[in-house]
Amino acid sequence: MAQLYRRVALIGLGLIASSMALAMRRAGLAAQITGHAPSAQTREAALELGLVDTAHDSSAAAVAGADLVVLCVPVGAMGPVAEAIGPHLAPGATVTDVGSVKQAVIAAVAPHLPEGVHFIPGHPLAGTEHSGPRAGFAELFENRWCLLTPEGADRDAVERLRALWEGMGAHVEQMDAAHHDLVLAVTSHAPHLIAYTMVGVADDLRRVTDSEIIKYSAAGFRDFTRIAASDPTMWRDVFLTNREATLEILGRFTEELFALQRAIRTGDGEHLHAYFTRTRAIRRGIIEAGQDTDAPDFGRVPRR
Ligand code: NAP
Repeated sequence: MAQLYRRVALIGLGLIASSMALAMRRAGLAAQITGHAPSAQTREAALELGLVDTAHDSSAAAVAGADLVVLCVPVGAMGPVAEAIGPHLAPGATVTDVGSVKQAVIAAVAPHLPEGVHFIPGHPLAGTEHSGPRAGFAELFENRWCLLTPEGADRDAVERLRALWEGMGAHVEQMDAAHHDLVLAVTSHAPHLIAYTMVGVADDLRRVTDSEIIKYSAAGFRDFTRIAASDPTMWRDVFLTNREATLEILGRFTEELFALQRAIRTGDGEHLHAYFTRTRAIRRGIIEAGQDTDAPDFGRVPRR
């Protein structure tokens, strides 16, 4: 794969940035990678792991001379970071991000970018519940989607960024930012909130039943705990910035939950069976689309 960028600056050096660095290095997509993270510990780890060639304690220094800047910080930090780097961006550079929410990031970042810089928001639909520079791995984006919401950005710049994501193994699709936020509220944000709630309920109960919930934890609950172990800062920011779409989906969720609750109360087995038959078909669709395997997972398969 040909080299696409001369100098890539990664702002934030956590799970997503470290996975990008490893994937870019593996495919030779960038001649040089620079990085910035506020904590010295993260910068040292990034250098030690060979993620970046240089690590800077200021974001402005990290973006100097970069032809691609990737904002890999929590969604709530995107605006302040854009403000700090804006005056230091090279003319003609591309700025992208990996944030899980798009409309709020665009509103926070765009006003700080100078004329002549291409802003192409993005979101790789790939992640784990782990954080930090040591959590990354080069295969994270393989066979996963990366959604770009370019909204009128320069076509050549968009094609180059698309090639970067494809070089890291992802499939790329373009989408309107508002549509992105609604789709992700359904497929990711609301499910995370539900997992957080279920684990919270179990934690309250644990005080009653002592350690039984951990001891007898079954697959369903274990899956919830994995999701609910995700980074608290990242997810706080997701809910605060994708507020409308998340509340819309939670409203619909609550209505469905009431209907199921009623079916259980009234002994309406037909309703429950029909509902579960419909939802089972969705799982089959995800497996057929290659987004998961149908191998049983009892929580014992080692995960990265
Ligand atoms: P992460 O592992 O927690 O890393 C976040 C990084 O951002 C850390 O290096 C942190 O620095 C840095 N940071 C925090 N605040 C900053 C600030 N104000 N200025 C500069 N750097 C700052 O997070 P992640 O999982 O890679 O997530 C990064 C972004 O990707 C988020 O916007 C998230 O929504 C998005 N995303 C995440 C996933 C996922 O599953 N994790 C999937 C898709 C997209 P220190 O280490 O010094 O604290």
